[in-house]
Amino acid sequence: MGAFDWFWKAMGSATERNDKKSKGIVEQAHGLIESVSALTDAEIAQRAAETVDEGAISDKATFLALLSVASARTLGLTPFPVQSQAVLRLLEGDVVHMATGEGKTLVGAMAATGFALIGKRVHVVTVNDYLAKRDAEWMRPLVELFGLQVAAVTSASTREERRDAYRCDAVYAPVAEIGFDHLRDNQVTRREDAVQLPADVALVDEADSVLVDEALAPLVLAGSQPGAQTIGSITNVVAHLRESADFSTDAEGRNVFLTDAGAEKVERLLGIDSLYSDEHVGTTLVRVNVALHARVLLTKDVHYIVDEGKVFLIDASRGRVSDLQRWPDGLQAAVEAKEGLTVSEGGRILDSITLQALIRRYPSVCGMTGTAVEATDQLRSFYGLHVSVIDREKELRRIDEPDRIYATTGEKTRAIADEIEHLNSSGRPVLVGTHDVAESEALAADLIARGIDVAVLNAKNDSEEARIIAEAGDVGRVTVSTQMAGRGTDIRLGGADEKDREEVVRLGGLAVIGTARHRTVRLDNQLRGRAGRQGDPGSSVFFVSLEDDIVAVGGADEEVTAHPGPDGRIESARVRGFIEHCQRVTEGQLLEIHSQTWKYNKLISDHREILDRRRADILDTDTAWEELSERAPERAADVEKLGAVAKQAAREIALFHLDDEWSQYLALMEDVRESIHLRAIARETPIDEFHRIAVREFKNLANRAVDQAVATFRAATIDGDGVHLAQQGWSRPSATWTYMVSDNPLSGRSFASGVASIFR
Ligand code: ADP
Repeated sequence: MGAFDWFWKAMGSATERNDKKSKGIVEQAHGLIESVSALTDAEIAQRAAETVDEGAISDKATFLALLSVASARTLGLTPFPVQSQAVLRLLEGDVVHMATGEGKTLVGAMAATGFALIGKRVHVVTVNDYLAKRDAEWMRPLVELFGLQVAAVTSASTREERRDAYRCDAVYAPVAEIGFDHLRDNQVTRREDAVQLPADVALVDEADSVLVDEALAPLVLAGSQPGAQTIGSITNVVAHLRESADFSTDAEGRNVFLTDAGAEKVERLLGIDSLYSDEHVGTTLVRVNVALHARVLLTKDVHYIVDEGKVFLIDASRGRVSDLQRWPDGLQAAVEAKEGLTVSEGGRILDSITLQALIRRYPSVCGMTGTAVEATDQLRSFYGLHVSVIDREKELRRIDEPDRIYATTGEKTRAIADEIEHLNSSGRPVLVGTHDVAESEALAADLIARGIDVAVLNAKNDSEEARIIAEAGDVGRVTVSTQMAGRGTDIRLGGADEKDREEVVRLGGLAVIGTARHRTVRLDNQLRGRAGRQGDPGSSVFFVSLEDDIVAVGGADEEVTAHPGPDGRIESARVRGFIEHCQRVTEGQLLEIHSQTWKYNKLISDHREILDRRRADILDTDTAWEELSERAPERAADVEKLGAVAKQAAREIALFHLDDEWSQYLALMEDVRESIHLRAIARETPIDEFHRIAVREFKNLANRAVDQAVATFRAATIDGDGVHLAQQGWSRPSATWTYMVSDNPLSGRSFASGVASIFR
């Protein structure tokens, strides 16, 4: 018995009480539906406003009954009791666990309506443009019936469209766009130029993807800065290094290290004294490591593809080409140099924020996903969120078969193709989840050679992908996808129109096949969840080989004896247990990485909050003018006659230097992070050393920003047109762009190595 058992018991019973209570309210609401049905639309809106008392919904049963009638009237959907229950849990700020196909879109819209009614602006956070647009349009009639406004923001939205959208009560937007708008708003020098308004609630769809899987991916705002690139020469030097003599990789093939001989060789070829000297440790050594990493650990067509002279990343968590993401600048350039491509122009990072820090800015957060339970620990420890499990409307009829285990990859691959061929011969639809683009193309080629029609999902376009996946349940379909492709789209049996539903039901429904277990059970379950929606028949099975990644990583150094049959199949409870063990190990590693990385990010994100407040103060008040007048009274006396123009000039000067210093601080901390393990040897622990430097540098930043502003205030021309900063050599970048840095392309990296920390 652990010391905290009483605590968990108390938590458990509280959850049950909540559950009973919300079921009671939903039942009560059901009883009210008949009387509510007699109301006109306007009366429904009126009554809804009356259920609100002091910023909360006081009469929840009436509120749910009104929503239910409104939904039936506007969307033709009468919410199931489980959906109404989920709405109550969302309004309480929980993450609700609801299976695929249970109708989360409606639940989200009802909850968003509830938040809006109590005067809270809500951002419904989606995973892509397609879903933001689709859901906002689909749910619009419901939300509008209550006299509330709803809009979507997508990457295609113009500045004006964004500004209008963010003024609505409920805003559907992909998480990346919300973050990019936030970063761009943090560069404006007049409040009215910002597009966003503060929001009170983030309601996160696919909550585990956003809050856990992609949480540490930084969103970046960069500005143009033509700069010298030295990576080419380093790439050439690294090309001369030989495996084992000059560098070695670790057992899992996740990290690469220079040997002493390798370091000497690099020093000789570059003509420098020591890679480990103060001069080179944070710069040259980092670049050598990056170039080595690009050469040894990143493989074309697995980690990236080259198309039209450009490197496109394959997104590890989705296993597909991603046009939004790129690697941290150094690595992108190193891969470009390795492939002999033009190295892209070096930009300067103006600002960046992780999804986790972005979401934590909202006063309240809630969310929905089919795999929340599996992420309970992370949701609690990183966001303080509680998971509520909502029952299925109809019982699950999907059959989850035990893993089929093979000795080698070759035997496994053959068995997968055989199984698909077998299923396809009856006409039963099959959805295959693979782990990377190369694998999905190889499998598709194999199937085509067997005379089977295959749809491969590696479209770069979300709506195209959604269209293909919507048909994945039709007779005779074989769809090969990578993880999470087409997420949020329903797979209906018999095709999107359900024309052949009867036949597919008779055949056993959709068969889901996973070509390897994922690094976490949660990702396995995301794939399984594609079958068996709303009580449909279906099945799921994973094929595993002892050569799979999770076995290599999670079972490193462990021997397992197996006695495969003639086709390589292993039927042994012990081996099955071993596979589960391997997955638990990889899952533990991921968790450890997350919490380590979070420690590094936390301080920067605290500093970011301080900066945000300072920025808001300068933007919204005359602080800058007051401070600068005090430090440079003669100059202030000079320009005071310009009135508001002088105050705006002071504001622009202060903000320019604040933003400039912040950008330099981020770049510096990036370098420090990359080299921290090399610097910290034999001194403090890396994280303590990192903290010490971060705190010192942030303080310097604050002082320098003010000193610089005073100098500029004294020297710059300030006239009726305002301040002429460009004359001083100070100008903001002429062009900016945004991107999302890939989550670690190599899973399971550890922070024990200097190279690994390049990826956040
Ligand atoms: P999820 O996001 O949970 O996978 P969706 O929101 O895409 O599910 O909904 C799945 C399907 O269920 C949609 O086709 C939707 O129209 C339907 N649906 C949702 N709620 C209801 C309801 N109360 N009654 C009937 N159909 C519903």
